[in-house]
Parts: sequence; C-alpha cells; structure tokens
Amino acid sequence: MLLNGFKKEIFRPKVNPQFESLHCIAHLENDIQEVIPYLNAVLGGTSFQKSPPSVMFHVNGRLIAVHPKKIAINALRDEEEAEKILQWLMREINETWEKRHDIEPSESIAEKPKLMEVLKLLPKTNCGECGQPTCMVFSSMVVQGLKAPEQCPPLGDENRQSLKEYLSQFTFIDI
Ligand code: SF4
Repeated sequence: MLLNGFKKEIFRPKVNPQFESLHCIAHLENDIQEVIPYLNAVLGGTSFQKSPPSVMFHVNGRLIAVHPKKIAINALRDEEEAEKILQWLMREINETWEKRHDIEPSESIAEKPKLMEVLKLLPKTNCGECGQPTCMVFSSMVVQGLKAPEQCPPLGDENRQSLKEYLSQFTFIDI
C-alpha cells in the first residue's frame, strides 16, 4: 500500500464566504509522487505537470488536483462528498501502485472538449437560468466538467442530445 491515510481540511473559499460550496485539502500521510504518472495513465488527467509532479482530474463535476503530499478538491456540497471522493481516490492510488508494472506511465493529457463547440449548441440568449451570467461562462464550465447539458433549462431536445453525444467522447469521471 502506498497511501495509508489523509487528514482533511475543509474550508469556504476566502474570495466569497457566502458561496455555497466547500473546498477540501487532504494532507497525505505518505509521499505519492511516484504514482502520479501511472494514475494519469489510468484515470486520464486533464492537466499534468512534470516538476513538481501533479495531475488534475474532473470527478463528479469537481476539480481534483493530486500533488505528492496533498489532494485539493473544489466546489464540494459537503464534507460527506469530500470523504467519498477521497476514499475512492485512495483506492485508485493504491490499486494503481499495486499494478504499476503492467501500466505504461503517461505525462500526456486527455483531449478536452472545445468551448466553441459547446457554445454553438447552446441557445446563446444569456438568460441566466443556469445561474451563470452568460452562455459563454456556462460553456467554460461544461468543458471543465463542472456543468452538464441538463443544467441549461431552455436547451432544446435536439441540441441537448447533440451536446451529450459531443461530450461523451471525453473523459469525465463519475463515481
Ligand atoms: S440557461 Fe442556457 S441559455 Fe440561459 S444563460 Fe445559461 S447556458 Fe445560456
């Protein structure tokens, strides 16, 4: 086992304490830097840094950054969700480490959806029903995996289906 445990630190973003979501930093008991390129190969990171090593994933619409001694997760509903994601990630880290001799480590990142391809399928009325000020902002959140087509209420069935098909080509992890 590479990672034995972690200690959670939960906080609200300082920039906007009224904001409903929480952030979490998990301080790791062990240094996991050697597993990071293997984890990137297995889970399809959307951003990878070689030195110091770190990788980013989108899981359940949350952004997760994995560093050698800590894991950061943004936009969480509550502490329970943080625990669920961290327990899942600890299992993935340890399983990947066990199987590393069968895995080709990777420093390349998975292809991301293109913002303009998403935007062109949206109504482009900037109505704000999704909670975002413009369709452009909503599109940028969709390409990061932070919003889904269902969260644009005025989106018609045909374009909703096209957007789902377009997004299905890319790696968004749901646990
Ligand atoms: S609900 Fe849809 S149409 Fe309205 S601003 Fe959001 S993305 Fe644009």
